[in-house]
Amino acid sequence: MDLKYVQTTCPYCGTGCTFNLVVKDGKVVGTAPYQRSPVNEGRVCPKGTYAHEFVNREDRLKVPLIKKNGKFEEATWDEAYKLIAEKFKGYKPSEIAVLSSARTSNEENYALMKLARGAFKTTHIDHCARLCHSSTVAGLAASFGSGAMTNSIDDIAESKCVFIIGSNTFEQHPLIGRKIMAAKKNGGKLIYADPRYTCTGKQADLYMQFKSGADVAIFNCLMGEIIRNGWEDKEWIATRAKGFDELKEMVLRDDYLPENVEKISGIPAEQLRTAAEWIGTAESSTLLYSMGITQHTVGVDNVKSTANLQMLTGNIGKRGGGVNALRGQNNVQGACDMGALPVVFTGYQKVIDPAAYKKFEDAWGFPDGICAAANGYEVTTMVNVLADNPGELKGMYIMGENPMLSDPDLTHAEHAFKNLDFLVVQDIFLTETAEFADVVLPAACYAEKVGTQTSTERRVQMWRKAQDPPGDAKLDWKIIAEVAAAMGYADQFAWESAEDIFNEIAELTPSYHGMNYERLAKPEALHWPCPALDHPGTPILHIGKCAHPDGKGVMHALEWKPPAEVPDDEYPFILTTGRILFHWHTGSMTRRSETLDKEVPTGFVEINTEDARALGIKDKELVRASTRRGVIDVPAKVTRDIMKGVMFMPFHFAECAANRLTNNALDPICKIPEFKACAVKIEKIQEA
Ligand code: SF4
Repeated sequence: MDLKYVQTTCPYCGTGCTFNLVVKDGKVVGTAPYQRSPVNEGRVCPKGTYAHEFVNREDRLKVPLIKKNGKFEEATWDEAYKLIAEKFKGYKPSEIAVLSSARTSNEENYALMKLARGAFKTTHIDHCARLCHSSTVAGLAASFGSGAMTNSIDDIAESKCVFIIGSNTFEQHPLIGRKIMAAKKNGGKLIYADPRYTCTGKQADLYMQFKSGADVAIFNCLMGEIIRNGWEDKEWIATRAKGFDELKEMVLRDDYLPENVEKISGIPAEQLRTAAEWIGTAESSTLLYSMGITQHTVGVDNVKSTANLQMLTGNIGKRGGGVNALRGQNNVQGACDMGALPVVFTGYQKVIDPAAYKKFEDAWGFPDGICAAANGYEVTTMVNVLADNPGELKGMYIMGENPMLSDPDLTHAEHAFKNLDFLVVQDIFLTETAEFADVVLPAACYAEKVGTQTSTERRVQMWRKAQDPPGDAKLDWKIIAEVAAAMGYADQFAWESAEDIFNEIAELTPSYHGMNYERLAKPEALHWPCPALDHPGTPILHIGKCAHPDGKGVMHALEWKPPAEVPDDEYPFILTTGRILFHWHTGSMTRRSETLDKEVPTGFVEINTEDARALGIKDKELVRASTRRGVIDVPAKVTRDIMKGVMFMPFHFAECAANRLTNNALDPICKIPEFKACAVKIEKIQEA
């Protein structure tokens, strides 16, 4: 049998595992291990194992679609481009919004950012990082001057104490879970804090179950105990940090004594003392978190708290230490790096910085200039503007995102999107959002393209082409370049390959300056910052100094604040949402993977055994979940593994969409919604 093996990078989570796609007769038919990957050493999780199954699905988009009289009709590319150019040329720049994609490559995110700011001249560009880790970008940038995971995945295995909070790492980033087990094998302790006793919690030496929304109080308590016992790293604080006195005053307040934080969080005081001792006295201690920390109205405060703890104990710029934000989608780090955010060009160069603005304006050479030197709308603001000020935003271009399932309070989001005059969606399947579009453009998937993606540990790795796209589907960057040409900007998008685009990125982006395809093709690839061609890349950030101009880390004194919506008589439980092992985000790929979909074919709500008994609810029974924003019917999963008073729902399933229920209250700084805590009522469905 004539099989070909094409090495590529996983299209699901931010771990960045590498595997081979198996190709037979020009079609992808399976996956196989790629042993030389330093990230996963040939192993993958179930999502990686079956990452070929959606590639050749019959329902892949194959031709452009234009909606006429409420129905999609097949169209030619020329018809689609002509309509898009006519519509977008008719809008003022401020009336156009663009959503880029954490699932597509760096090159494609860069191309769309250039289309938005250069051709559409709008400042309104964002992507789904807003919904998962915008608080990481803002919080870590405020603390260290750089908003990314500080250490490498490999480095976790070196740690003598691994503290995980708000991340079910063994399910969501399973191959990072292996490094945690390696740390344990090397004598490290594992502390796990989460409302659910997950498979990660079951491996922990200390499990602290807490009520969603108590994070800042927990961190202040741990830091207060560390200072009271003299376990802080006095030298690190004296030489490398600012703000210690204010932090100390805050965390030593009686409010944050273990007995008082037990009342806020539900964690027994003795457990808090033990955790503080293990973290404070370990030779090295790493902190891992994910959306359990970030998706709150105090998401930025939560992230700053993680940085506070690691600076206090001198665990920044050190092997086995760090603040390790585990990014969700395969290229969410890269989409941020590429400036698919409303305030920055590539490499976090601020749009409002005159020097950065001029650099991009000059390099791009648009004859009629680029967008205003101003910040644009975040995706959450776009949706609110659409809902509240119909007509202010008229046209929207979305590449590879599915806000009709991923946004909070979906009823509100649907109402908002109906107020658009014109919506273009570029994707590989007809998603819930594409159904709303006026024009749908069929795109190639990861297995059909060359490009790069940047994993959670800032490692920039390659995708390689294994087969042709189906039907008339095209590469995302090609589509973008052809839309730009239809708008009259062919010269600015005259790339012949993804490599041409990458070279343009490297030229304009200091942290990517030293990268090119030849260097990235090696199994180990490169971690940014990599400022020169002879630079080896940077697996650990902030060694010797932080990225702020004065080199200091900034400690922030933070007061604990409760979630925007807390339980009451009418809605007596806390609802929290998250992911499960077999599915990924809005399920557009995993639910089209036969094996993964068979494993978990629909959603559920986890209910504590005692709560279920009190409500008269049995396992697997269909129950009604309602909040102030919506109602869904969903199967119950009765379990002792969730805290009493808390309900958990995975958010992948359109037929029982958790986001019908979630709250769109936002963090005031980064505008992330509070997906992780709202008030919910659960009822038995009465027979008619
Ligand atoms: Fe893919 Fe993440 Fe699984 Fe690795 S851990 S195979 S990157 S989904």
